Amino acid sequence: MSANRDFIRRDLAVVWHPCTQMKDHEQMPPIPIRHGEGVYLEDFDGNRYIDAVSSWWVNLFGHGNPRIRAAIQQQAEKLEHVILAGFTHEAVVDLSERLVALTPAGLDKCFYADNGSSAVEVALKMSFHYWRNRGQAARRRFVNLANSYHGETLGALAVGDVGLYKQTYADLLLEPITVPSPDCFHREPGESWRDYSERMVAPMEETLARHADEVCAVILEPLVQAAGGMRMYHPVYLSRVRELCDRYQVHLIADEICTGFGRTGTLFACEQAHITPDFMCLSKGLTGGFLPLSVVLTSNRVYDAFYGDYQNLTAFLHSHSYTGNALACAAALATLDIFEQDDTITANRALSEALRIATERFKDHPHVGDVRQTGMIVAIELAQDPKARKPFPWQERRGRRVYGYALEHGALLRPLGDVVYFMPPYVITPQQIEALAQIA
Ligand code: PMP
Repeated sequence: MSANRDFIRRDLAVVWHPCTQMKDHEQMPPIPIRHGEGVYLEDFDGNRYIDAVSSWWVNLFGHGNPRIRAAIQQQAEKLEHVILAGFTHEAVVDLSERLVALTPAGLDKCFYADNGSSAVEVALKMSFHYWRNRGQAARRRFVNLANSYHGETLGALAVGDVGLYKQTYADLLLEPITVPSPDCFHREPGESWRDYSERMVAPMEETLARHADEVCAVILEPLVQAAGGMRMYHPVYLSRVRELCDRYQVHLIADEICTGFGRTGTLFACEQAHITPDFMCLSKGLTGGFLPLSVVLTSNRVYDAFYGDYQNLTAFLHSHSYTGNALACAAALATLDIFEQDDTITANRALSEALRIATERFKDHPHVGDVRQTGMIVAIELAQDPKARKPFPWQERRGRRVYGYALEHGALLRPLGDVVYFMPPYVITPQQIEALAQIA
């Protein structure tokens, strides 16, 4: 019996996997991974797979990155964890100083959690609570974009808009005001990304003009609506929405959980629009894919609205047990070191170009409706009728067939529905990118 098969039997007896209809494993069992190195994952039978999706977008510098591994080992010798309420430690202070320095000017304070969804919950609660502390308790709604995704816990799920994840739980969720997305997939033939994204500012303006008094914040994913199918838009939209949020006095929450740490070509996507959000949520790549950690950065202005005598009851009493975990902070510091020492953002320009060239071939494919790219993300959207951008019936699960085929040929491609995408670790080589494109 293969080592894989033996291990899968044990797994399926006790593990319930995320985002999975477990019955699917009757046909396509989970792949047990025993080793990861660079862009490669290796299973128990010795088969290797190029991780084209950075294991759900977290792994920035390859599996088993020696620098991050060493930093965690060193931290483990000193301090693995300490309660962050009433206590602090070196790694969390170092990390906070560096994040404040690296993120757009005006983000001054770091509040930690331990996964992306929790960071979104923190930002939503902080924004809501800010307005209460400022005597504006009528503000209790959030504005979001169609096709957005912000996580799976109930608050984060509510401000997302991907029906597949959300519909079942609708009765449990708060109701945001959803405005159309600037997603350029929907632009008219011949219309530029810029023109389309700018045109889509109007519905946001109308919404804020009508609802500003009851709105806490606008929440969005800057530049790329990732789980919504890697849909992309022009930075001009972010600039305009920032202006609108200023004019109508509502917060802007930038969920950079996916886009942060170089994915879109700059360290943070907001940089491309030269904006500072009121809240920036970071996770995923923050620790280079080694440990769960997330952080919400915000301004002193927000912070000051919570600062006062305890008896005023204005404090933000949110917490998670693993908030600011020392090992995770050490991994994050090592990740930032790599960005600095290797000048990753510059180096990624050549890789983005290699991605562009390698995926050009799909543009003329009879079942491809769109090939789009932002920085280190390329998406290829399958379509039954590309001209009409008519999708295949979802029941055919074409993306899943791509997934199965790619695994047999040595690549982990995990399409979102029928959107095949490459979002590799930054240590991938142009040759490995070419290999991925060949398999795809
Ligand atoms: N926001 C965005 C933009 C995301 O892409 C994700 C994860 N795919 C999340 C939030 C949720 O993060 P987590 O899975 O760590 O809860």
